[in-house]
Amino acid sequence: MFVIPSDENTTYAMKPMNCPNAINVFRSRQRSYRELPIRYSQTDVIHRKEKSGELNGLFRVQQFHQDDAHIFVEESGIEAEISDIMDIAKTIYGTFGLTYTAELSTRPDDYMGDLELWNKAEESLKAILTHKFGADGFEINEGDGAFYGPKIDLGMRDCLGRQWQMGTIQLDFQLPLNFDLKYVAEDGSMKRPVMIHRAIFGSMERFIGIITEHFKGQFPFWLAPVEVGVVPIRTDHNAYARRVVAALEDAGIRTDADYTDQNMKNKIRHHKEQRAPYVLVIGDSEAQNGTVSVNVRGSQESVRGVPLESFVRRAAEMKKKHELELEVEFG
Ligand SMILES: [Zn+2]
Repeated sequence: MFVIPSDENTTYAMKPMNCPNAINVFRSRQRSYRELPIRYSQTDVIHRKEKSGELNGLFRVQQFHQDDAHIFVEESGIEAEISDIMDIAKTIYGTFGLTYTAELSTRPDDYMGDLELWNKAEESLKAILTHKFGADGFEINEGDGAFYGPKIDLGMRDCLGRQWQMGTIQLDFQLPLNFDLKYVAEDGSMKRPVMIHRAIFGSMERFIGIITEHFKGQFPFWLAPVEVGVVPIRTDHNAYARRVVAALEDAGIRTDADYTDQNMKNKIRHHKEQRAPYVLVIGDSEAQNGTVSVNVRGSQESVRGVPLESFVRRAAEMKKKHELELEVEFG
């Protein structure tokens, strides 16, 4: 932790995790089984004081954001909840076209809590993973779980074969005990909930690093920081270029235009170096006919004479559908 001594009685620290926040909200009033599962989401800034040698680009930083959630469930609700979380993971990773692997880490020797609950939870997790990935479709790390509960780690292998950790789904039997968390069960008795810590992206910073490597900087259209670069050939094409930019921005598309009198080749090179998915070149013919000349990333040739509306319509559609491939024809 980053510890900050304040005065002789007080020491502050930079928040290393979100778990206690969720616990405090949960126990701020009495809870009933009818409310469970209760899900708290908190994508917040957290801090880890890493040694300088352990820092690594976006992959390991000292201040980062986690798409963190803490879920309080009844024991009988564990399986359904984990299954839902796995579906969320599938949707999110699928949107980026990532294939991922799952690993289950089971009870270590120094476990805490009720053995029967451990066994039941591990059986539930195995059943879910078998259902989603097939009996041989996931790995089991025997004895590798945390002392407070079993966990599922989700990771991916990138184009260079490197393994990256992304999501984690962690059951926790211990914090509810330590903080004496309770809810009123259906039979009127007081019962202890199980806590689930889960993140799908994991560290947002690390996830950005992973997808940057995965796409080799050539992001899908909807993910590119600048989706369309606009290049007026001469400054007297600026008026039409501004109309092109306005049409794209009205459709929610991120653009970057260079209206200076710089050489056209330099303007185009700038966008290509930025890996813009499309560069639109605007000259006399385009301005006269209401068209654009489309240079697709990775191609030397431009597709000429594309009606502006056709390009905008197709671009908006690619963005809406999170398409992973770039359209190359705009007929
Ligand atoms: Zn947590």
